[in-house]
Amino acid sequence: MSVRFVKSSVTAYGIAPSDENRALRLVELCGRTAYKSEDKITGDSARKFVLMLKSHGHLSVLEHSNIVLRVENDSAGRAGAQASPLTYESMLEALRERLGFHRIHPLASGGFLISGNFRAWFDTLDHLKQHDGMRKFFLENLGRFFPAIFAGEGLDGQTGPPPCRVSLLGEQEQLELLKSSPSFDLPVFVFKFVCDRGITHEVVRHRVFSFTQESTRYVNYGNRGLELILPEELYGSYDDQTGETASEELLAGEWRKRAELIFHWYGEDLARGLRPEIARDILPNLLKSELFVSGRWSGWRHFITLRDAAQAHPRIRTIAKEVRKYFEGLGLGC
Ligand SMILES: Cc1cc2nc3c(=O)[nH]c(=O)nc-3n(C[C@H](O)[C@H](O)[C@H](O)COP(=O)(O)OP(=O)(O)OC[C@H]3O[C@@H](n4cnc5c(N)ncnc54)[C@H](O)[C@@H]3O)c2cc1C
Repeated sequence: MSVRFVKSSVTAYGIAPSDENRALRLVELCGRTAYKSEDKITGDSARKFVLMLKSHGHLSVLEHSNIVLRVENDSAGRAGAQASPLTYESMLEALRERLGFHRIHPLASGGFLISGNFRAWFDTLDHLKQHDGMRKFFLENLGRFFPAIFAGEGLDGQTGPPPCRVSLLGEQEQLELLKSSPSFDLPVFVFKFVCDRGITHEVVRHRVFSFTQESTRYVNYGNRGLELILPEELYGSYDDQTGETASEELLAGEWRKRAELIFHWYGEDLARGLRPEIARDILPNLLKSELFVSGRWSGWRHFITLRDAAQAHPRIRTIAKEVRKYFEGLGLGC
């Protein structure tokens, strides 16, 4: 079938996983959405795919992840240790230029919680090159919980780590902390939106989020067929089973005619040798796009406030309402 209409949708993937296997699988899924190569996912493809992203520098895909560490003073347990333990204050000082990419929260015990996605941690480890002990400390602990990602980052010749105890916070613990106070803005919530290309432009204006979206440069719609988001005014004439609009409907017929004409032009451009990244110029705003969006509760709360509002475009409002429902289900209302 050359042209097909689909409805907008929202899928909540929940809190970014705190164990490596699930985290790698999610990053792989996000990355493969860009190229529509999800059919290449196998039981053991994630690690290789994510390491490929890392080595090619496609680091934004690695942002659909989160590692939350609890760091506590352990000087009593390691009496022989030379270095003094990390404190909340020393951490803030060392990461002054990196604070936008982490959340750091002091603990009454004198320790702290620190979160960041894979990419943030890579860049922070790089930044910490002037702080030998601190870099070694984080690298060892990140490597303990996420060996596939952080192994091989290199520890040679570094001074010993400070004496601290480190544990990993699971998703449930992150959620409970957030529910106890919005200042524990630690978990990252991941959603997949299926929406039109006009709406993806609006979504990606929310700079505090991370995004990976279907690429009109790499996807060849000539092979796949053209999928468009069903305009709301056609909902009544849409058949969910077949994905067809009733042809006797005047408006539906008009939309289909326009879409088929565009698809025909697109196909002609491909046939005369243009690459999909050039042939895409003719594709309409209504083109169905898949988009992974990840961010913290503070970002989502802001998104809901702006986008589930009377002034917002009706199609992004539909999406924001679904996001709102998801958070309300978790007990996080705004
Ligand atoms: C109804 C509506 C109509 C719109 N119309 C237009 C339009 O006509 N033209 C247009 O270009 N856009 C338009 N927009 C998009 C709008 O301008 C924002 O780009 C979009 O809503 C994202 O909002 P934000 O910047 O607050 O969110 P985010 O980018 O997610 O930022 C969240 C918060 O982080 C902080 N922040 C992030 N980055 C910075 C920064 N660089 N400096 C300082 N603080 C920062 C701010 O506190 C901000 O509120 C419209 C949006 C809405 C909701």
